[in-house]
Amino acid sequence: MTATLTSTEPADQAPAADSGSLIPLATGELACSDCGQAVRDDGERVTVTVYLAAQSPNGPSKEQVLSFGRCPACAERRALVAEVVAAHPALGGRLGPAGALDRLGAALAVHAAIGEPLPSAETLTGSVELVSALIRHLAPAGNGLRWSLRYDGERAGTGPWDHLPDSQLAAARKAYVAMLSERRQAVDGAVWVAPPDAPDADLSGACLLCGRDLVLAQSGGADAWSPTVISTPSVIAAPTSPESLKGWVCAPCMSACQHVGSVGQAAMMRALEEELRTSGDEDGSARLQRLGDSAWLVSWAAVVLRERRAGRPVPGPNREPWGHISMEV
Ligand SMILES: [Zn+2]
Ligand SMILES: [Zn+2]
Repeated sequence: MTATLTSTEPADQAPAADSGSLIPLATGELACSDCGQAVRDDGERVTVTVYLAAQSPNGPSKEQVLSFGRCPACAERRALVAEVVAAHPALGGRLGPAGALDRLGAALAVHAAIGEPLPSAETLTGSVELVSALIRHLAPAGNGLRWSLRYDGERAGTGPWDHLPDSQLAAARKAYVAMLSERRQAVDGAVWVAPPDAPDADLSGACLLCGRDLVLAQSGGADAWSPTVISTPSVIAAPTSPESLKGWVCAPCMSACQHVGSVGQAAMMRALEEELRTSGDEDGSARLQRLGDSAWLVSWAAVVLRERRAGRPVPGPNREPWGHISMEV
């Protein structure tokens, strides 16, 4: 097995001040590219190209190819990731095949680094909602855990994941706990429900308005998604078109539409306000209130249609509802 990855991060040749313990490699040993423990060099190497920071501001950046090994536990975890991604083609469609492998790999690395058991292959291949929740919660914290992102090929950690500073492990554990509490809610009778497939593939994967792709719903989730036809796409800031816009609207957005009596700016404002309120984003909420009637919200469908019309890659669903809207400005 030889993987070639490219990293634009400068190699960190000196251990950071708060890193765990490192030991020199003995002859015939390599560090596991993921967990950093020393493994026997059996010729199956993982190579990583890093670009060292230039010596002077205009100097050439130096390229270096580093060699690592892979321990049985990390090899097994990567095989599990590949099996799960292959079992959920929609995931590869949404994140790109390499993106799906990378993000689920990062999510499961969190389990390994904090010493929690991995979900079984059966559990993971049986639930795309679980896999999506793992990626959503854990991939950001899991991204920077790999040994090969930080260290050269000269040393190893004293044991698996020993190179990680306490601060990074604490962040990984916090993300894991957040994932668990969401899953527990899901286990208490609620289920994550994705929108059903629709003929227009670009718009079928998420709520036309807020862009979320999963709704936590009780009692089987029959009301989680409503088929919706928008005859005047401009009311949700979508490009004008002779054809009406067809897709799905999530339960929270639909409840805002029903309250207002139509799909449009007023309903979107109400749904976004509600989302900011329940997520405790008081700053965002205050900004939205200041904007008042002058706010003009762009729907997720509008972003997709604009990008598609411009011939640019179509964005996937939002990781958080209304994630395409910045409340910073
Ligand atoms: Zn390993
Ligand atoms: Zn929505």
